[in-house]
Amino acid sequence: MTTTRGSRLPASRRLARLPGLLLVLLLALLAAVTGCGKEGSPPVKGPQPEDLPVYQVATGFSLPASPTWERAKRRGRLVVGVKEDQPYLGEKDPAGGGYSGFDIEIARMMAASLGFDPKKIEFKTVASANRETALQNGQIDYYVGTYTINDNRKKQVGFAGPYYLAGQSLLVRRDETGINGPQDLAGKRVCSAAGSTPYQRLQREYPKAVLVAYDTYSVCVDNLLTYQVDAVSTDDSILLGYAAKVPEELKVVGKPFSEEPYGIGVPRRDNALRFALDDALAANEKNGNWKKAYEATLGLSGVPAPQPPAIDRYPAS
Ligand code: GLU
Repeated sequence: MTTTRGSRLPASRRLARLPGLLLVLLLALLAAVTGCGKEGSPPVKGPQPEDLPVYQVATGFSLPASPTWERAKRRGRLVVGVKEDQPYLGEKDPAGGGYSGFDIEIARMMAASLGFDPKKIEFKTVASANRETALQNGQIDYYVGTYTINDNRKKQVGFAGPYYLAGQSLLVRRDETGINGPQDLAGKRVCSAAGSTPYQRLQREYPKAVLVAYDTYSVCVDNLLTYQVDAVSTDDSILLGYAAKVPEELKVVGKPFSEEPYGIGVPRRDNALRFALDDALAANEKNGNWKKAYEATLGLSGVPAPQPPAIDRYPAS
């Protein structure tokens, strides 16, 4: 590694060596680059705590048939796997460390129905490719993070729900005119998350696209903004959130070209937990919590609350 003498000085001493005017210029440049002090660009409105439902913690609830529930009870709190970089769905505040979004609200309403205080949930960020392993190894009790239910995954994990229906779509830069749907992807660099259903669909059905995989969609979006890739493809629910953050730079194009029913992932053989979560979802859809949570979170990206999809209470396996 080559290191110049100057760069080994502590930052404060390096700055002190700069002449005054140069320092002022440097700070002005920094403010321009980071947007600090810029007026007229209010931050995008995120979920407001006062708009969120308050979930009643079930008292006297017990689920002895579920080894996952029993373990959480002994531990005194639930450990829930989520995403941390998906606006309006599962997003971690870099300053406070708190999580927010529709998936987070689903996780909280489920916790309350299972008799746990939603405020005490330990959220763990788990990327798309690691979800099955995290559930199989007992690193998390359940998973709520844009997790499509399908037969292949059902061989490894169980799914309560679905609680939402998304569809695969495309995100491009606003100045892009050549990509209006998946039929236009031949020879284009398209980014998606490793282990995701959108990535697998592109590989299978659009083999002429040049695929780029990262662990997370936010890295794909960074690559799109810096012209490293031409499009990002995943669920419309996720892409609309990124577009809403920088509408002057990004747009979602075309119609959704798949069905992505979101489920709550549970350990495969824990049927008791899966059925309890199905019951909890049904109850929260009925009492208005589902709709209120949607409107305060995912609804902010511009799509009014749909009817939740029918819950698929498939037989014990
Ligand atoms: N719903 C899709 C999936 O489960 C894409 C979103 C994600 O990667 O979480 O693979």
